[in-house]
Amino acid sequence: MKHFLIAGNWKMNTTVDVAAVLAIDIVHGLSEHPMPPEVEIALFPPFTNIPIVAPLCRAAQLGLGAQNCSHEPYGAFTGEISVEMVEAIGCQYVLIGHSERRQIYRENNEWILSKIKLAVASKVTPILCIGETLDHRQTNRTWITLQDQLDVIFTVLKPEQARRVVVAYEPVWAIGTGVSATPEEAQEAHSFIRKHLDYRGVTQVGNDRTRILYGGSVNAENAEALLAQPDIDGALVGGASLKAEAFLGVCTAAARISNL
Ligand code: PEP
Repeated sequence: MKHFLIAGNWKMNTTVDVAAVLAIDIVHGLSEHPMPPEVEIALFPPFTNIPIVAPLCRAAQLGLGAQNCSHEPYGAFTGEISVEMVEAIGCQYVLIGHSERRQIYRENNEWILSKIKLAVASKVTPILCIGETLDHRQTNRTWITLQDQLDVIFTVLKPEQARRVVVAYEPVWAIGTGVSATPEEAQEAHSFIRKHLDYRGVTQVGNDRTRILYGGSVNAENAEALLAQPDIDGALVGGASLKAEAFLGVCTAAARISNL
């Protein structure tokens, strides 16, 4: 049986008041549509809004995550937030290597590996985001891109560390565009990722299998068909997580699938 994770990435949206209202609306909606134990929901507000959202998540048994962390553990890195800080404020998850960070902030493989290493050494679960650009896909470089992004991490981590990593497959061309991968395209990529992790010695059997989330224009309408794919274990939701109703639609789609 799958253990779904539905993660709402609010990106650089919501001021503190707006964040509180959004979290309350989501918590309220979930109280009317209780999730089965196989469906975990987690919110990823901007750093400044984590303190207001954290107690709401705790009370409603939702997960909480940060959208990024520093590649260094502490020190003279003005403007950065460490994994230790993320853990201390109550986060169970941290996104690492989101395509917006890779592209806009030029995060390189070395930094992404450092962040993952720091996270697996803490209690925070890293969600490693990978995905090909439109150019990669159109020039038949999707698989080599995914393989390279995985190898940066999984050829280095020890098996017990690798087991702690969640992977999010997010084709860059699908993020924030309204054009999701089709369920078949997403399944093909997830199956490739799982086989490659297996090849790298990360067990993909039963409850030990890596959770691989799909991200890229997921919404209440397309979620069910995506989540029904055998290798899709959840969703990383951007735009649709900013509206309680749309996000709840994704959550209830996961609940329906888990009851099948
Ligand atoms: C994301 O931010 O990771 C994302 C997938 O965004 P969107 O759902 O808006 O495409």
